[in-house]
Amino acid sequence: MKTFSIAIDGPAGAGKSTIAKKLAHLLQCIYVDTGAMYRSVGYYCLQNDIALEDEQAVGAALPMMEIILKHTEEGQRIFLNGEDVSQSIRTAEVAASASKVATYGAVRCAMVERQQDMAKSTSIIMDGRDIGTVVLPFATLKVFLTASVEERAMRRFKEYEEKGIPCDLESLKQEISLRDQQDSEREISPLKKAEDAIEVDTTHMPIDEIVKHIEDLLKGRL
Ligand code: C5P
Repeated sequence: MKTFSIAIDGPAGAGKSTIAKKLAHLLQCIYVDTGAMYRSVGYYCLQNDIALEDEQAVGAALPMMEIILKHTEEGQRIFLNGEDVSQSIRTAEVAASASKVATYGAVRCAMVERQQDMAKSTSIIMDGRDIGTVVLPFATLKVFLTASVEERAMRRFKEYEEKGIPCDLESLKQEISLRDQQDSEREISPLKKAEDAIEVDTTHMPIDEIVKHIEDLLKGRL
């Protein structure tokens, strides 16, 4: 198979990571969850008492963060200064902090550079908010996933329940709506469907059907 890149964008809970992981397994390529990188920056700030509203302070702390993605049989693991933070970054607090620091130019610049480097010379699937518009503008295939807020909050609720993380549906809905708003309204690289992306509403579509649909779309382009 020729080298390819797939950009998957969309709001929180639209099914991006579940679908991207399955596709990467099927297509035998690397999957990069770019949200985990922004989450790591937010997590570092929370851990080190760096005020999230202080753009200068967050930017100045970037060189102190060594963020390494490791690709294992079980998928991507993320290490922050040597600590495996793959689980710790999955809280609602870290998600909100990620969305805040992701509005800053210095943070985006540093993350995008790393992501573009990773996509050189290997087949890759990346998910995020700006993959089709900024990170991989020449991706072989761009997909924009959506789903209703209710459905997305319900998915997060079940995910947290399975992991034994206490949560309630209403606050998840609020958290997701707030993040949607912050991610779509920010000045730099807002969450937006690339003009040449294919939109897929996942609200009532089974995961395997979406995966198959994207696989077929890719085959048509190789
Ligand atoms: O995808 P995930 O929910 O883990 O992303 C956390 C936050 O990171 C998002 O709400 C968004 O603000 C930010 N993000 C981004 N650009 C990306 C991926 C994530 O701004 N490519």
